[in-house]
Amino acid sequence: MKVYHYTLLFLIFFLAVIIKTDMSIGRLKSIENEKTELTKKLTAATSDAVEFLAASGVYGESSIRKDEIKDIFFTSFYSSMGIISDPNAQAELEMYIPVILLCDYDGYYVYYYDTFTAEDGYTYSKRIWSEKMPYYYRDDYFIYRFTLSDRVIIYDINELLPLPVDVIEADYHEFQKDDRYTLFRLHHSDHFLFDDDKYELVKKGAIINQLENVLSYYTSRHNSIARMNGISYNFSFPSGLEEEWAGYMDDRNMLVVFQGYPYGADRDYTFNKIASAGANIIKKPVYYVEKKGWYHLAHIKGCPKLENSIAILDKTFDSIEACAKAGAYCDDCIEYGARVPELITEY
Ligand SMILES: [Zn+2]
Repeated sequence: MKVYHYTLLFLIFFLAVIIKTDMSIGRLKSIENEKTELTKKLTAATSDAVEFLAASGVYGESSIRKDEIKDIFFTSFYSSMGIISDPNAQAELEMYIPVILLCDYDGYYVYYYDTFTAEDGYTYSKRIWSEKMPYYYRDDYFIYRFTLSDRVIIYDINELLPLPVDVIEADYHEFQKDDRYTLFRLHHSDHFLFDDDKYELVKKGAIINQLENVLSYYTSRHNSIARMNGISYNFSFPSGLEEEWAGYMDDRNMLVVFQGYPYGADRDYTFNKIASAGANIIKKPVYYVEKKGWYHLAHIKGCPKLENSIAILDKTFDSIEACAKAGAYCDDCIEYGARVPELITEY
């Protein structure tokens, strides 16, 4: 062969490599785009649901409309996936969402697949909500039930507190100030109840740790149910979402585990994503403060008493704590908070 033959061979070979690489780059790009699209759709559906959660019900309301929130999520997700009128495709897609978690102020709900054996002897699966489960924590002193606000319920199992009752529900700041706890403060000054930063750390750590265990349990439990439905993917809960999630833990929030979803031209890639959003990101509660002679009174936005009052401060507040710092007591429209002492209302 002459030299130019070699050159020609080289060129052919080189071009083939370029075309092949170019094709696989194109393929990777379209896979990357599909992944970005899926992420967008899932995140948007989660935000839609949480937006409803934020708009419905005020701070402290005891029951959240979890079915409506869940329906909004699925409707939004199905419609962006183009399967809003295809129940079979919806059922298939839903199988890749082993768990949804809805966090209320004083506990959380898990939406999961449960199995049951029907009269015909066959085993079926259906989605159900768990009961509301408390944010539970225990140490050498007490058992705690945390809330997403400053309220805490303490079970005084070791009778460390000089109270006639064993169950105390309070704003945790009361343990730092109230005379009844002076002795306890003296003997256990390093307890986390007495340090705001420590309290926040212990509380968030305990809640997130508990929720991760719950998610992990229900996700791995999903494997047998998925297999029943012809899905061979093994669901497992990826850990390490503490940081992102901690930001949502000041208010009600939602978390969706979407796992193992096959995509790409040959459906040979799997999509995994945990989508979460918090009501505080979407809408903080708004409080108004009314001037009432000797004292100030805080109201939540929407309180009917606000309409008839002419002495509302221009400034609004986004937490009860901020109202309290401004010296305001809480009106009845706010479930938890310091009330106006009898002495003042008499005058
Ligand atoms: Zn009010």
